[in-house]
Amino acid sequence: MSLGGRELKLLKEMSESFGPSGFETETASIVKKAGERFADEVLKDKLGSVIFRMKGKAERPRVLLAGHIDEVGFVITGIDEKSGFLTFNPLGGWFDQVLLGQRVKIRTAKGEVVGVIASKPPHLLSPDEREKVVKVNQMFIDVGARNRETVEDELGVKVGDPVAPSAEFLTSISERVVIGKAFDDRIGTFVGLQVMKMLREAGIVHPNTLFMAATVQEEVGLRGAQTVSHVVDPDVAVVLETDIAGDVPGIKQSEAPAKMGCGPSIITFDASMIPNQPLKRLVIETAEEEGIKYQLSSVARGGTDGGKFHLGRSGCPSIAICVPTRHIHSHSAIADVSDIEATSRLVVALVRKLDESRVESLTSI
Ligand SMILES: [Zn+2]
Repeated sequence: MSLGGRELKLLKEMSESFGPSGFETETASIVKKAGERFADEVLKDKLGSVIFRMKGKAERPRVLLAGHIDEVGFVITGIDEKSGFLTFNPLGGWFDQVLLGQRVKIRTAKGEVVGVIASKPPHLLSPDEREKVVKVNQMFIDVGARNRETVEDELGVKVGDPVAPSAEFLTSISERVVIGKAFDDRIGTFVGLQVMKMLREAGIVHPNTLFMAATVQEEVGLRGAQTVSHVVDPDVAVVLETDIAGDVPGIKQSEAPAKMGCGPSIITFDASMIPNQPLKRLVIETAEEEGIKYQLSSVARGGTDGGKFHLGRSGCPSIAICVPTRHIHSHSAIADVSDIEATSRLVVALVRKLDESRVESLTSI
């Protein structure tokens, strides 16, 4: 299986859609439309997550795949009385230094407004000031207006309006590399949709009931994972995510072991979860059987929706399988199409193995 124009078009649509944490409706409806034809039922929680159910040979185990559809963004906190410049708060974790000069979209009751994140012009800074990093609280959003009336009355911008990065999805190196925003974690969600498609198109009857969830509000504390866990009541959970690709200048191998283009990465440890060990071994064994190159990774800070899933009810064996991605949480992340394909294949093979006795064995003592 390789990603064709139709698949890349869907990934582009997902990537470019507007969906900061708490404001994911647009992305959710794209995902719903893309997945519903493969599902037997479409469910939801009451936070905005979409959940597909696919019948298999047995009611149990209930296997949960999940990717989050929210992206890091901002929320408007104020409109300057005179000038109309906007102050904002981050939604999720941003590195201040990737913000200046970037375009954003503000969703208002009247529609979409384009703006630019800016600060005091460098030309006017003292030599001392120029040496210093500009912090996010010194930045503002400029929509090109000269007064508050234009911003508030004409454009309809209000305190509390959501803001998302504005970035075109592009391909490079003969469509083998993709560049865009919100890859964390629209790519993981896309892998989930691919898995559903591959199972359906190949007529595979999996020995379980499969749930594929597009969760919301991950970037602000794994909130959608909590409600999805309640709806699905999974027996085993596989989080589909992006991992930080450490193959960029200035990173030690041990800090971020995964490399772009070298296959799915299996998170062996992060700040939110230690994966179920028999499940980790099963994922590795499956990759080896399928001849899929994989990478063992760890993330000292940060976590995934697995942080909530593995603590559902009396516990749920969980793991995160990721697409190594460069520059996440920026306007321009980069990922390798072959990693997306390989991750999808690995997850299909894994789902086929998760029958009742196998899942029970994950927690045997
Ligand atoms: Zn993520």
